[in-house]
Amino acid sequence: MKNYSIAIDGPAGAGKSTIAKRLASKLGFVYIDTGAMYRAITLFYVDKGIVCDDESAVIEKLEEISVSIKYIDGAQHVFLNGTDVNDRIRTQAVSDNASKISAIAKVREKLVAIQQKMALSENVVMDGRDIGSVVLPNADLKIYLTASVEVRAQRRYNELIEKGQQAELETIAKEIEERDYRDMHRENSPLVRVPDAKLVDTSDLNIDEATGFCLGLFSLVKEDQV
Ligand code: C5P
Repeated sequence: MKNYSIAIDGPAGAGKSTIAKRLASKLGFVYIDTGAMYRAITLFYVDKGIVCDDESAVIEKLEEISVSIKYIDGAQHVFLNGTDVNDRIRTQAVSDNASKISAIAKVREKLVAIQQKMALSENVVMDGRDIGSVVLPNADLKIYLTASVEVRAQRRYNELIEKGQQAELETIAKEIEERDYRDMHRENSPLVRVPDAKLVDTSDLNIDEATGFCLGLFSLVKEDQV
């Protein structure tokens, strides 16, 4: 039987993971958060105090790292050398350094191979930066999800405030812009909107509206394939 795949790419904070998770749950597909895998590798280096833009130091240790994904009560958990690190990969230090680690070709090769293998045997919704361009170039549906920097920063700010953490809107916007820049301008698999990706701008859409819109796009694809 055919496996379906939906590729969602876009910059930080556009709502990719929330929308991808909802799509997967509505369609009964497996959700794969590839950013979590880059974050897990990054955590290894942050813990070891290895500077993330020192490419040769990073490559030297790469063989010592194993990253895997398991589903616990339906939620994705990422494991670093056998330890569940889900709770440790969302810090600002990991976010900032992940965009440096992920610029290294050998790191990408390692993770892309795991991601492609996962999509072979399952219906998947996968989100990241290079899914439509590199990981799943033949995906049934490709979506480029974006929103203005102001909206993305405001969403992140609200999340932090809700969690009782301190936050400054301007600083968050600057960090988002820096991360976008690194992701879009790196030599290896930069974030791009491939020509066959549907552009979905969530600046003026709430999560339900954006999910509904993406589900509609998938229905059209399926109708076309019948
Ligand atoms: O999606 P998330 O913000 O968790 O990703 C963290 C970082 O991992 C991104 O800023 C990007 O540098 C990198 N990444 C990537 N390719 C992917 C997914 C994430 O380069 N497919």
